[in-house]
Amino acid sequence: MSLLIIGTVAMDNIETPAGKVTDEIGGSAAYAALAASFSGPSAVVAIVGNDFPREVLDRLAARGVDLSGVTVGDGPSFRWSGRYHENLNNRDTLDTQLNVLTQFNPQLPPQYRKIEHVFLGNIDPELQMAVLKQLERRKLVACDTMNFWLDNARPSVLKVLAEIDLLIINDEEARQLSGEHNLVRAARVIRRMGPKRLLIKRGEYGVLAFEEDSVFAMPAYPLEEVFDPTGAGDTFAGGCMGYLAQAGALSPAALRRAIAQGSVMASLVVERFGMQRLWELSRADIEARYQAFVRLTDFHGA
Ligand code: AMP
Repeated sequence: MSLLIIGTVAMDNIETPAGKVTDEIGGSAAYAALAASFSGPSAVVAIVGNDFPREVLDRLAARGVDLSGVTVGDGPSFRWSGRYHENLNNRDTLDTQLNVLTQFNPQLPPQYRKIEHVFLGNIDPELQMAVLKQLERRKLVACDTMNFWLDNARPSVLKVLAEIDLLIINDEEARQLSGEHNLVRAARVIRRMGPKRLLIKRGEYGVLAFEEDSVFAMPAYPLEEVFDPTGAGDTFAGGCMGYLAQAGALSPAALRRAIAQGSVMASLVVERFGMQRLWELSRADIEARYQAFVRLTDFHGA
């Protein structure tokens, strides 16, 4: 069972207290697809510029990511530049260049339209909506967004929210979207906008999951050194949705295990710049971090 992912495939310039990189491969769809590839196959709908390294697409394809929905636009790739504060929970966006994203008109190849599990990664909400309209057998549609779209395209974000099942956003976005500072109250307001389930990512403080009458919390793994938090949110979502696409039914227990998988992947990606750590990961690395999470959260006393 495949996972359909729409989002950006980008070239990032990143500054963190640990250093600085330029032209680092990133983007919401790239992080999500690479993270999901450890659970099962996925299919990506995105646009890259004519400056985007072909070799990176080949490496993604070699990991089981179907790229027949990726088009090469006429012009430079989407570019994002950001600088993290000393505490790594806050960052400033220095520059966003949409470039080929302005030409993007996502057309799903026929075989993509039948995919049941979909992650609408962070991208223009009008494009998320265009993909939603082409789906023929949707079972679980999750969505992410960010302050850039809440500032510039809020009405479109609200239209998407009315259509989806699961929203995955960070705490600041939840506050901005709801107008509530308290996250429990924010969750109540947001779920009235459409999504029955809501995951709020809280950086180094982990994730809160709201579903029906229950709330579930998963900590982030306490790391001694974080190199670069870029893409942790997309990696979390990709890990989570990759797991759910394989699990099939969305039970409360499956959602919790998916959150664990997402948290494992996110805790790993921040250990190097960009997606570098994800490329080199082995199943043993993932299993070891998974067991570390089991020990971290075991309060029954093992
Ligand atoms: P995250 O750290 O999870 O928010 O994701 C960072 C990634 O999002 C980077 O690789 C950027 O290329 C990408 N990104 C930044 N701004 C946007 C935007 N406005 N729309 C879509 N993707 C973005």
